[in-house]
Amino acid sequence: MLRNDQLAEWDRENFFHASTHLAQHARGETPTRIITTGSGVYIEDRDGTRLLDAFAGLYCVNAGYGQSEITDAIADQARELAYYHAYAGHGTEASVTLAKMVIERAPANMSKVYFGLSGSDANETNIKLVWYYNNILNRPQKKKIISRWRGYHGSGLMTGSLTGLDLFHKKFDLPLSHVLHTQAPYYYHRADLDMDEAAFTAHCAAELEALIAREGADTIAAFIGEPVLGTGGIVPPPAGYWDAIQAVLRKHDILLIVDEVVTGFGRLGTPFGSDYYGLEPDLMTIAKGLTSAYAPLSGSIVSDKMWKVLEQGTDENGAFGHGWTYSAHPIGAAAGVANLNLIDKLGLVANAEKMGAYLLAALQDALGTHPHVGDIRGAGLLCAVEFVEDRDARAFFDPARKINVQVVAQMLQNGIIARAMPQGDIVGFAPPFCLTQSEADKIVAATKDAVQAVL
Ligand code: PLP
Repeated sequence: MLRNDQLAEWDRENFFHASTHLAQHARGETPTRIITTGSGVYIEDRDGTRLLDAFAGLYCVNAGYGQSEITDAIADQARELAYYHAYAGHGTEASVTLAKMVIERAPANMSKVYFGLSGSDANETNIKLVWYYNNILNRPQKKKIISRWRGYHGSGLMTGSLTGLDLFHKKFDLPLSHVLHTQAPYYYHRADLDMDEAAFTAHCAAELEALIAREGADTIAAFIGEPVLGTGGIVPPPAGYWDAIQAVLRKHDILLIVDEVVTGFGRLGTPFGSDYYGLEPDLMTIAKGLTSAYAPLSGSIVSDKMWKVLEQGTDENGAFGHGWTYSAHPIGAAAGVANLNLIDKLGLVANAEKMGAYLLAALQDALGTHPHVGDIRGAGLLCAVEFVEDRDARAFFDPARKINVQVVAQMLQNGIIARAMPQGDIVGFAPPFCLTQSEADKIVAATKDAVQAVL
């Protein structure tokens, strides 16, 4: 076996890591951490350190690590047929079965699923579908897409533009044209101290109306949003927010793309975030939980209304010119079928709902009165703790202090992985759905200890 220091050297010399401070890593200031195995909510690194992963990788290993029903399905598929494409009507038993399972689980008005590889490419597909749709309907000027500040929709050119976080724009010449941002439904951050949730919701809807009026509704094709803002801070919207936004969109004939990459397949304790908030999507984006990240696979789910126009488009223009080599990859599809079956068999969505409520309440009990804990919030098994310098004035720490990074580092010392969210002093939690009460208690105890140590 290779020595750890040898691997670390190869890593620094050759490996361009995702979302990493490149210079610090190359200088060896941030460690190379090689993960070797995983089981349930735990992963283990090469030194034998066992860590409770309270963020399920990147909130994606929903079924938990080491599920042999999924790994066996992948191995069987790889032995039988590792690859065939999905062009011109081709498929595999796994891809056709998975499409049926996805549409059965999706809201009633959804018609077909297009499989991709990642959440980013699925969102790129969705934007192309929206543009194609409006071209077929002979309204070529209706092309702009509205997303929210603090939304996260991927790291591609278009999806990085839709993402509303500075880090993903800075020095990349993003956002591209065609993209507009409106405010995030971040009640804790944005509302005046005397504004109640209903007033703040009305304010968000009014701001959207004003943006549409300024740009002209005939230029705006779609609005994209995550049911709960994820990477932007794990922020469930205030009551009534989605109803108010949907009313504005319907009034102006603007399509709704619901990005369910994090919330899809049970993270909120419901099949989709759309079910949780009563959303009626025209398009949905799915990825992560579709396979619990056992293999890369994503999807764009298309509504009946859009599908009819897409069919009309190909009758008029020929084949739909959009395909990836790995669309509906058989190994991803086999992982997806086994994953969704396992989640059903083990009742993991119900467990996510139950353990989510437990974890949130336990965090509130443990930290709710701490002078530097400003907000503890969540929906389903997705929650966050936000730190403030002054609770009453809702004043935030100087970002340079990176309080959330310090808290997460301290938790790691105690064997728990949580996520320091990239913007704001927020620590996020999104454990695998198989979490037990005693594992939740460990997360809460480690969070409390870390907060006491840092603040
Ligand atoms: N959309 C949302 C809501 C996400 O959280 C993510 C990734 O975290 C993406 C899209 C992009 O997915 P991927 O990283 O698979 O490209």
